[in-house]
Amino acid sequence: MNIAILGAGAMGSLFGGLLAEAGQDVILLDINEGHLNAIRNNGLGLCTDSGDRQVTRLTAMRPEQAQVSPDLLIVFTKTLHTEAALAGVRRLLSPDTLVLTLQNGLGNIEAVGRHVRQDRILIGMTTWPADLVGPGQVRSHGQGLVRIMPVEIQQQKAATQVAKILSLAGLRCEVDPQAWTAIWEKVAFNAALNSLCAVTGCTVGQLNAVSDGLALARAVVAEVIATAQSAGINADAAHCMASVTDALARHKAHKPSMLQDVIAGRQTEIESINGEVVARAHRAGIAVPHTEMLLGLVRLIQARKAED
Ligand code: NAD
Repeated sequence: MNIAILGAGAMGSLFGGLLAEAGQDVILLDINEGHLNAIRNNGLGLCTDSGDRQVTRLTAMRPEQAQVSPDLLIVFTKTLHTEAALAGVRRLLSPDTLVLTLQNGLGNIEAVGRHVRQDRILIGMTTWPADLVGPGQVRSHGQGLVRIMPVEIQQQKAATQVAKILSLAGLRCEVDPQAWTAIWEKVAFNAALNSLCAVTGCTVGQLNAVSDGLALARAVVAEVIATAQSAGINADAAHCMASVTDALARHKAHKPSMLQDVIAGRQTEIESINGEVVARAHRAGIAVPHTEMLLGLVRLIQARKAED
């Protein structure tokens, strides 16, 4: 299968590298010249539980250089770059191209849907972790899962085929009609931990330094899950809090991506996480004061950093 990865940073490179190793024809599309050059010169460095190696059986280029219409396009930009990235590859998309987004946050169907027919979109979430440790070098340890579903039910067969291809590459993937539950529970997790760490500068473990950290996380999770439930999603606050407490205990030194973005002076994914939750909660008449406060604080930090 011809697979293009749009946004070949940490996650895009991990997925692209593993799919290429499994024999798929993979093109990495990105705008980070240093990363692209390193891959062109030395291949993609993958450091996973299977060992360290260079994957050379793939190509890496800027979106405007791509010529081949992919069978499957996997979108892995940060959510704030989805629109620009899809606009940059629109000419490559044939009526048959499937587009899969595994990005965090909400609003991804709407963003992809501005460029792609609904019946070509697959949506999902993944618990695979990845870090870009340097140009052309990606690290991912531990095991994850991918849950996907078609936006329109008639694409169930296509979703099953994509799940099989991802699983054969070692990226355990299931077609899950309840994928929205997993998506919302991850949004709740990120709305709590990402924004709390971004605002306080705490690592995940440092949120446990005083009981207020866990209490704040619990309050955000409860608000997000209430918003999900108002939309008919069968999400569970206790299940989500179990992931939060596990992360606080096990990933003590981890700096969530939103904190890393704040430190680097970049814009964050706050709008597609807390921002989308607050917008949906307002429409449903649900009060989400903690989530809204964190949204405002991260917006302020971003605005101040942009002025520096
Ligand atoms: P990243 O910043 O490492 O990668 C994003 C890539 O997109 C960058 O290489 C950037 O250069 C590229 N990009 C930006 N604009 C582009 C454009 N116009 N055209 C092409 N490429 C463009 O981000 P990431 O950590 O890989 O995360 C990607 C998505 O996956 C996010 O939504 C994130 O929340 C989600 N996610 C990340 C992880 C993780 O562990 N890193 C886990 C699950 C989900």
